[in-house]
Amino acid sequence: MRSYRIQGIPENIATDARATMRSPQYGHPAHGEVATGYGPCRLCLQTFTVGLDQRLLFTYQPFTDPAALPAPGPVFIHRESCGRYDAVLLPEALRPLPLVVEGYGAGGKLLSQRRVGPAAFEAVLDEVMERPEAEYAHLRNAEAGCFIARVDRR
Ligand SMILES: [Zn+2]
Repeated sequence: MRSYRIQGIPENIATDARATMRSPQYGHPAHGEVATGYGPCRLCLQTFTVGLDQRLLFTYQPFTDPAALPAPGPVFIHRESCGRYDAVLLPEALRPLPLVVEGYGAGGKLLSQRRVGPAAFEAVLDEVMERPEAEYAHLRNAEAGCFIARVDRR
């Protein structure tokens, strides 16, 4: 198996959203609520406890390549401070979720899109990143479509 780096959204984006109650990238108002779904939190990449955790909803654009077509969408984070995820392995909390792995090349070009389904996440990720032109991958929710996390080669 190859080695990857799986990361939550940038820490400063989460800090700004919590402090200003607005989307740091778009200025739209953020929405605070008690979790009605599992999320996950895009900073710590852990799922919410429904009916208990306070979460913040705001618009986030995950591409850092300026040549990529922006893809703003809704994301949740914990309302209060939490630890940003940055590790080699997929968080166990994400494993049961319906995931799609998307491989992107230069200019944010979508190269491949694979549903994980019953297959092992690692095998699907390897397949997407095997293409030499694949520079990074996004994990998205296969049902809601929202961005979950970014994956780079280590
Ligand atoms: Zn969190």
